Amino acid sequence: MNETPRANRLHISIFGRRNVGKSSLLNALTGQEMALVSDHPGTTTDPVYKSIEILPLGPCVIIDTAGLDDIGDLGLMRIKKTREVFDKTDLALLLIEPGAGVDSFELEIKEECLARKIPLLAVLNKSDLLGKDIDVKEKLEKELGLSLIPVSCLAGEGLDYLKKMIIKHAPAEFQKSYIVGDLISPGDLCILVTPIDSAAPRGRLILPQVQTIRDILDRNAQALVVKETELREALQTLIKPPKLVITDSQVFKQVAAILDEEIPLTSFSILFARYKGDLNSLMWGLKAIDELQAGDKVLIAEACTHHRQEDDIGTVKIPRLLEQKVGSRLDFHWYSGSGYPENLEDFKLIIHCGACMLNRRQMLSRIQKALDTGVPIVNYGIFLAYMNGILERSLKPLYHELKEPCPERKITADGG
Ligand code: SF4
Repeated sequence: MNETPRANRLHISIFGRRNVGKSSLLNALTGQEMALVSDHPGTTTDPVYKSIEILPLGPCVIIDTAGLDDIGDLGLMRIKKTREVFDKTDLALLLIEPGAGVDSFELEIKEECLARKIPLLAVLNKSDLLGKDIDVKEKLEKELGLSLIPVSCLAGEGLDYLKKMIIKHAPAEFQKSYIVGDLISPGDLCILVTPIDSAAPRGRLILPQVQTIRDILDRNAQALVVKETELREALQTLIKPPKLVITDSQVFKQVAAILDEEIPLTSFSILFARYKGDLNSLMWGLKAIDELQAGDKVLIAEACTHHRQEDDIGTVKIPRLLEQKVGSRLDFHWYSGSGYPENLEDFKLIIHCGACMLNRRQMLSRIQKALDTGVPIVNYGIFLAYMNGILERSLKPLYHELKEPCPERKITADGG
């Protein structure tokens, strides 16, 4: 329960041809025997995920990918999975070994990382085989166009230096990504309004609430957590108004009615749409709602196959609200899980879930794919805020970040 969720970890992926020692590197970096290691090429059938703490970076997950050069039907499946790994990769390690050399495979990985702006470290495994033959390393570096970090997973050499390079090249935006910390200053007070109803988990707060509290504390600010029923009383005890109030969307209108208009108010959903995705692109997606016509295809994408309750948000609530707004039937399609449909261009609108199971890079990849095919995309939080008439007030604390709608924009991991 105390583990940092995978979605909040820096994702470091190991790419390399079969049998260059990807699993051995995973084991060496994590100090655990987890991935099966064999001399037989292609032993790893699925990406393997292993959590690790790299200080001062913090919680990371290292992904051992199957070989992109794999063969056969099963190989094609492996290739698809490996490409999906690119979507979530924050930093890539390209592993080669002296005997295998460099060919189009390594160059393609390098190109893919360049195109996606993923920091790439090239690692030369089995460096113990080189002996004094530095010509081989120089030749490989020339062919690859990158410096090689020599390691020997077998002898345990070079791993500390590799970790130092990982820390140095980790994307800066990962280390300075805020939920709310950039909207407040040290000493500020934030009030968090969290309804505790039958849908709330017993005995604990939900993860977005916990993460927001931690972000406020990291900023040396203060967090006051109340239910909506205690908000009025809590406000009366304060000697100055709060810097910001953050509420669960369900009680937004109730909270807005209690607060003076000049007190900045937003919702957890809006903050997480920004934290996980790209607020401007998701805002642009809203414009499609007014243009929808009877029979238009709408994709509802959820990043996991969670247990559905009666009046489920994705399959019942959102379709109902949207059809009421459009005034006619729409053609809804649902897609859930770690994949993403290939035929995005068939849709007039994509409505994506809050993506709590995805890392930021992965959600940005999904938004970018929608932008590349010209399909507007919104997420549940922004969609519901718009439909419930609370979007304007909940966006006010973030007005300074909103840009003119521009569907052709290329988003980066820092949302730029
Ligand atoms: S927000 Fe998305 S990823 Fe999170 S539980 Fe809901 S469907 Fe799953």
